[in-house]
Amino acid sequence: MTNKINASIITIGDELLIGQTIDTNSAWMGQQLNKAGVWVRRRVAVGDVWDDIWNALDEESKHAQIIFITGGLGPTADDITKPLLCKYFGGQLVTDEGALENVKAIFLKYLNHPLLPSNLKQAEVPDVCTVLQNKRGTAPGMLFQKNDIIYISMPGVPHEMKGMMEDYVLPQLAQWFQLPAVVHRTLLTAGIGESFLAERIKDFEAALPAHIKLAYLPNYGMVRLRLTATGEDVQAITHDVDILFENLQQQLQDVLVVNEDITIEEAIGRMLAARGKTVTTAESCTGGYIAHLLTSIAGSSAYYKGGVVSYANELKETMLGVKPTTLQAHGAVSEETVTEMAEGALQAIGSDYAIAVSGIMGPGGGSEEKPVGTVWIAVASAGMETVRQKFSFRFDRRRNIEMTAMNAIMMLRKVLVA
Ligand code: AMP
Ligand code: MG
Repeated sequence: MTNKINASIITIGDELLIGQTIDTNSAWMGQQLNKAGVWVRRRVAVGDVWDDIWNALDEESKHAQIIFITGGLGPTADDITKPLLCKYFGGQLVTDEGALENVKAIFLKYLNHPLLPSNLKQAEVPDVCTVLQNKRGTAPGMLFQKNDIIYISMPGVPHEMKGMMEDYVLPQLAQWFQLPAVVHRTLLTAGIGESFLAERIKDFEAALPAHIKLAYLPNYGMVRLRLTATGEDVQAITHDVDILFENLQQQLQDVLVVNEDITIEEAIGRMLAARGKTVTTAESCTGGYIAHLLTSIAGSSAYYKGGVVSYANELKETMLGVKPTTLQAHGAVSEETVTEMAEGALQAIGSDYAIAVSGIMGPGGGSEEKPVGTVWIAVASAGMETVRQKFSFRFDRRRNIEMTAMNAIMMLRKVLVA
């Protein structure tokens, strides 16, 4: 019999409370633990404050069998997690030889200055813990056990924490606990709102067996649907969820974008690579964000050649060949300009497809005729009439940039599947 294993996450650091650092550690750990079949029941963030950390440990110990702690392990005086844990678990600080070697090796290899006493202190650990060596930094991780609860303290630096989780913690979970199997299947839809989607698949949803759950995850005008199966036998639940997932895909054929848990930029990258086609970008209002999204995908050089950030009208003319008369007659945010931008980029860069965007992102710059959020997007390709579409987003600049980029990529996708 598998049991439900409850976890808590305690993130430590004043910077998390004042919003200077976003707590990405919890999000990442939550994803990994969920995949591994561990239920993150609670999360709490506390400052670098002795009593608050202590109380958080007491409190979370009531709710979880395993507690993940990040932060407060630095060499400076504000970081107090290590002495606190030492006291909490009743130990003495001693130098760990492995950790000391690691600190010295890091200084020798990367840091061209002598070790300070505070750096050497990084190698001290409570003598009541199991040391988790840090291959990516100087602060070792620590594992404690008390009253059948496992406590794992890791550095706050995200990639150091990830390294430790991947190297030691995640592979150990199945040894520590009898975990249920968890299988996810995710698909991405576009062009249909969450409530309409729910209406369309309400019979499907109502007929789901108890061990399979459906989640709606809307973002950027697209909705991700995730089926999660939980059970004892991974093969059995995989079989169950695959049948349902197939059924769901059948029902949503017309709005289905991709049947994997990947981003739209990754999906478009795969489509371009499979077809041996290239794309370029001519961006005004997104300032290179579409280029950034496309190049965030490993292997994007196979299909993305580069692009133009033509924010000023002058550059739209000189780099993309937009006609001054077009800009004068219709303005930068217009069907005519964005069409010339896309066609000009296709010529200038020599790729198979070109995406162009021009819009008013706000908060200023809107007018009666073209309010904030007005965006024109065009997709051009040789031997095809340029596709253009107008969008009306709302008032948040950041979000408008993201919505423009997502919709631009979606428009290219439409052209590719047409
Ligand atoms: P610390 O271990 O407290 O010295 O933190 C080291 C660095 O990791 C700091 O720059 C923090 O901003 C960052 N950090 C700490 N906790 C988190 C967290 N929960 N999510 C993301 N970054 C963090
Ligand atoms: Mg800190």
